[in-house]
Amino acid sequence: MSAPLRQAEIDLDAYRANLERVRGWMHPVEVMAIMKADAYGHGLEPIALAAVDAGIRWIGVLTVPAALRLRAIGVGEDVHLFTWQHDPALDFRDAIDSAVDLGVSNLAELQRIVEAVDQRPARVHLGVDTGLHRDGSSIDDWPALVEAARDAQRAGRIEVVAAYTHLAESSDDDDAASVSLFEAAIERAEDLGVDVPMEHVAASLAGLERKEFRKDMVRMGANLYGIPGADGVSAADLGLEPVMTVTASVAKTKRVPVGTGVSYDYTYRTDDETTLALVPFGYADGVPRSAQGRVEVAINGKRYPIAGRVAMDQFLVDVGDDDVQVGDTVVLFGTGERDEMTVLEWGAALDTIGEEIVCRIGARVNRVYSGHSVEGRVGEYLRGEHA
Ligand SMILES: *Cc1c(COP(=O)(O)O)cnc(C)c1O
Repeated sequence: MSAPLRQAEIDLDAYRANLERVRGWMHPVEVMAIMKADAYGHGLEPIALAAVDAGIRWIGVLTVPAALRLRAIGVGEDVHLFTWQHDPALDFRDAIDSAVDLGVSNLAELQRIVEAVDQRPARVHLGVDTGLHRDGSSIDDWPALVEAARDAQRAGRIEVVAAYTHLAESSDDDDAASVSLFEAAIERAEDLGVDVPMEHVAASLAGLERKEFRKDMVRMGANLYGIPGADGVSAADLGLEPVMTVTASVAKTKRVPVGTGVSYDYTYRTDDETTLALVPFGYADGVPRSAQGRVEVAINGKRYPIAGRVAMDQFLVDVGDDDVQVGDTVVLFGTGERDEMTVLEWGAALDTIGEEIVCRIGARVNRVYSGHSVEGRVGEYLRGEHA
């Protein structure tokens, strides 16, 4: 049987195992499972349902529309959905009515939220910029934001659920300085009459390595997909499993003579009579052009480099005299079980991080979901049976 042309297999049991492991490590601190960018390319709905089945109570999805997608497939209000990047033209009404948690960075945002409140108070997390200069209020603007939030809360328009910041993960000292700024901001808020019920600061790396940064909740993304960010540490070292395995099937084979130029620009020439195997997976599918000469793919348990340029829809490998047939599975990256590289190794080889590789796996790569977890609500969703 021929393998699918292009496929990303998402092992939901591996995701759940990672989730359970990380929750065990963080206990009693809460874990928010981060699922921005379509769950790091793994597919938002199946990942979210698997996490909910595993008992997760907090999910971070970045945007309100993504949160509403989850409410629409039955993720109930017992699961808090945190969003923090808001379209300046967004009407917050649906988010508030669906009890979506809103990260707030500035007075204008708070104002728009307060104006959209109808039936019930908006759930607000006050963001502090402690050095990353992305979201969150600057330290200078913080007192004014806090006072406005206090007044809106007293008027029953909002509920301040938490305060949060995000760290640069630049160095231990820089992160410690950021956390000190955050702690001072919390004190200031309490002085101004806002009780902050919950604090969250750390993502995967700091959550793992800096116990004192865990506060009430850690926002975990990379670790849950089996892509830990710690330098020189593999997922396996930490007891985490890569969740995504990317494969293609050999689409054509061709016997060619010595000296044959391969792919655009003939950057590779065969040094013997040999067989070229065509792999239907190009840069449109997420293999960067720069992967030539830097990564290897596995076919029948053996590794081969990419021969010549990666094209939009395909690349070639020189398999010599090996018995490689049309339909054979080419493993680009995965767990390593079939002698393939892991996505962490791809990241290192390509001067990037595993997150970028998985997020860029393209839309025409079919996601298939495996594991026992597929039997529950995920299975119903995948079969189109959700309400
Ligand atoms: C992406 C992100 C996270 C998760 O980061 P990981 O390093 O993948 O765990 C947490 N918080 C915020 C605000 C983020 O943008």
